[in-house]
Amino acid sequence: MKERIVHEFSVEKKGKYILYWMQQSQRTIKNDALNLAIERGNALGLPVLVVFISLPDFPGANERHFSFMLQGIENVEANLKSKGIGFRYSFGKIEVELEKYLDDAQEFIMDKGYLKIQKKWRDNIKSLVASKYPMNTYMVESDVLVPLEIASTKEEYSARTLRTKINKHKDFFLVEEDDLLPKVLWSDTLVKIGEVGLSSEDIISRMNFKDNVGESKYFKGGENAAYQVLDDFLKNKFQHYLLRNHPEYDYMSSMSPYLHFGQISVVDIINRARDEFFIRDDISQEAYDSFFDELIVRRELAMNFVYYNEKYDQFEGITYPWAYETMANHIDDPREYIYSLDEFEKCQTHDIYWNASMKELVETGKMHTYMRMYWCKKIIEWTKNYEEAYNISIYLNNKYNIDGRDANSYAGIAWCFGKHDRAWKEREVFGKLRYMNANGLNRKFEMEEYLEKTKNYTGAE
Ligand SMILES: Cc1cc2nc3c(=O)[nH]c(=O)nc-3n(C[C@H](O)[C@H](O)[C@H](O)COP(=O)(O)OP(=O)(O)OC[C@H]3O[C@@H](n4cnc5c(N)ncnc54)[C@H](O)[C@@H]3O)c2cc1C
Repeated sequence: MKERIVHEFSVEKKGKYILYWMQQSQRTIKNDALNLAIERGNALGLPVLVVFISLPDFPGANERHFSFMLQGIENVEANLKSKGIGFRYSFGKIEVELEKYLDDAQEFIMDKGYLKIQKKWRDNIKSLVASKYPMNTYMVESDVLVPLEIASTKEEYSARTLRTKINKHKDFFLVEEDDLLPKVLWSDTLVKIGEVGLSSEDIISRMNFKDNVGESKYFKGGENAAYQVLDDFLKNKFQHYLLRNHPEYDYMSSMSPYLHFGQISVVDIINRARDEFFIRDDISQEAYDSFFDELIVRRELAMNFVYYNEKYDQFEGITYPWAYETMANHIDDPREYIYSLDEFEKCQTHDIYWNASMKELVETGKMHTYMRMYWCKKIIEWTKNYEEAYNISIYLNNKYNIDGRDANSYAGIAWCFGKHDRAWKEREVFGKLRYMNANGLNRKFEMEEYLEKTKNYTGAE
């Protein structure tokens, strides 16, 4: 769809292939960047080469994130091969590795990313292409329903303000085009560099992770797994989606790890959900609307936040003046409990629900949606000051959640500090920030069942 594409440079060049640097959209199904590469290849009579580059020192990444991602890359390689598209794996600094493939490329395609580091890579690569290998270059936005700058040209105040803008464009962007197949098949003689056929274990064994957080036994990565998880959700859980906030149940889609690595298309998810809703009587309009609101509006609000707010990951830049003011007014309030990072990480608080949620996170790599809010709110309550609470929340969230280091990680934690929320009744420590407590959990949910579900999880040592 042309509205998802920005034609960055328009320069004629001769080459042997169309090069697609896959970074954000790590999939072969419903990937607009890959489809554009195939379309350009077919128009020019050239094959397509996809390059994936893995950094040895991706900030904050550990074995848990890498194994999930690399299981996905194994899928990508196999699926590309079956379509006659070339694939190379490279290991090192993005610009250095990519440069090895640029000289022989006739056109160059990137997918779009919104985090600071992703924007920086793309800026550096654009400068490299412009200065040394000028050629037709495209950026394709394939991981949101409505391209960010079409939805809004500024940082949005809340879900309400973005929702109206998304609603204006949603029908247009829900239309999906069929995936393309290349007319000219890839031949491995075309490039002599890079690696193929590596298993995720091979690559993991070459890495040197700072954190000792192992692979999740509960979530397998890759587009094949993503569709299995989605099918299970649509078939067995979607009808109960309005109960998703109950920690004792598991009625969420579990799409967040797959979305984080671009292993599934958000447009495909919502279209499949809509088809299911149309044919089934047991899925209510409300359930579909709520799913749409979380998957599209909330998620794209998070992307809007990181895209337009340079300080999305620094305490002084995450929230509104009223929230900073109320925190300043309550900074000296006595805290009933104060825990260190180590105590939080080892699940050593006095609160059985908080400890259970932390154990769930450490064990599975994905904390229940509702418990994420409670978890962060309590870190605010039990820490010396707000900035330390923010830093601890970001650190633990990003270390253990497979879907960590996402736009949603930054927006979700910022929300606990008032972002995209409103002021509430004033109280100790929280000031006007929304408050949550264990009584609320007990009143609304069967917390004994959540404790039962998590009782064999041991947490970090
Ligand atoms: C303190 C805190 C930390 C969070 N950290 C992360 C994180 O590291 N990574 C992450 O992906 N999400 C994070 N979230 C948002 C949300 O909790 C998760 O996206 C959700 O739990 C993922 O589970 P699911 O895919 O099964 O959800 P579902 O209910 O099935 O939702 C479907 C999709 O909608 C989106 N979504 C759902 N809830 C939200 C939300 N509140 N904000 C934005 N998008 C949403 C997600 O992409 C999700 O995959 C955080 C929220 C909070 C309050």
